[in-house]
Amino acid sequence: MPQILIEESDKKPTDKPPVGNQDFDNLVEATYEMAKKILPFLARRKIPLTPDNYRIFYDYFLLLKPDLGKKIDDLLANNCRFSPDISEELFRDFYQPEEFQFASVEKVSERLSHISEAIHKNLGATLDDTFRFRDILTETVNQINLAQPGEQNLKLLVDNLLDETVSALSSQSDLASHMEKTRQLIASLTSELKDQARLANIDELTQLFNRRYFGRRLSHILAEGGDDLVLSVIIFDLDRFKAINDTWGHNIGDKVLALCAKIIKSNAGENYMAVRFGGEEFLLLCPGLGREETLALAETIRGQVESTAITFRGKPIKVSISCGLTQRQPGDSEEDFVARADQALYLAKEAGRNQVRVL
Ligand code: GH3
Ligand code: MG
Ligand code: MG
Repeated sequence: MPQILIEESDKKPTDKPPVGNQDFDNLVEATYEMAKKILPFLARRKIPLTPDNYRIFYDYFLLLKPDLGKKIDDLLANNCRFSPDISEELFRDFYQPEEFQFASVEKVSERLSHISEAIHKNLGATLDDTFRFRDILTETVNQINLAQPGEQNLKLLVDNLLDETVSALSSQSDLASHMEKTRQLIASLTSELKDQARLANIDELTQLFNRRYFGRRLSHILAEGGDDLVLSVIIFDLDRFKAINDTWGHNIGDKVLALCAKIIKSNAGENYMAVRFGGEEFLLLCPGLGREETLALAETIRGQVESTAITFRGKPIKVSISCGLTQRQPGDSEEDFVARADQALYLAKEAGRNQVRVL
């Protein structure tokens, strides 16, 4: 049976640097040159400088994916707006799942650190070069402002970066120290970008994957798998959770949610994907797992939630969970598949809660 490994978020991508075996100096130069091409291009076309877009246009300029190139040429010819939906569609159509957002952000971060190395190395660069760099940064700031209007921290970092560069230009006497500060700012920006990518896909309270990321993965898995794809899903919903909030307060409710998420995650292991699907609803996507094993897994989790003794100020909090599960049928859309599990969950609730049902 095929097992699709669903990885945790913070693994490093393993792909090779884009210029093969050239030495590091050449790599720095190459990525720096590429950034100088991509950033003004995106700015001119009013394409937001998001990690996904940077990745897409990096591959576009390097002619790494001819089909992607053709598609982009068509989109550009039609003056298409590069909305997040378009980027997502391009990723779905032209990239493997492991190249999705995490990988692309890692790559942007990698490029940024190469730019930073280049600045360090090129302290003796001509003033002309530095001015060009300033122009690139200005465009970057504009694009990041456009792309991430709500992300104050990121904006602040880039603004500081720009200030530093401008100061460096006006005071050549201490160019080196300004450039060193610039290098540090790029390092912060890199780490901020990584955090943001993580936040985009992970639910903060439970640290499980969020529904948006689940949707992307599911659509990819369904699109890639043939008719014989074995895929199960379990939906969990805490029983009478409103009463727990009402009795113990929202904060304790949050702690109960996090605890249940922990139980689900510990049973998911490396192979299955644990998701916070909604407020007090969770989901476990189990590639390669047949009906009986999925049933057993759901029963194990239900039993562990029921038998976990939770107390607050010495008083027990009774927690139970209902589960609905199903297997993917040939021809199922994403919605059909999840809706059937949801119907099974409804049957479990109807039957009195704290139980598992299959459809
Ligand atoms: P049922 O057994 O039918 O599922 O009953 P229920 O009370 O669990 O279902 P209902 O849909 O009536 O209530 C769900 C509650 O979950 C209401 C909402 O306040 C609570 N909830 C949703 N998200 C959160 C959250 O993030 N934290 C806390 N503490 N409560 C939440
Ligand atoms: Mg619910
Ligand atoms: Mg509930």
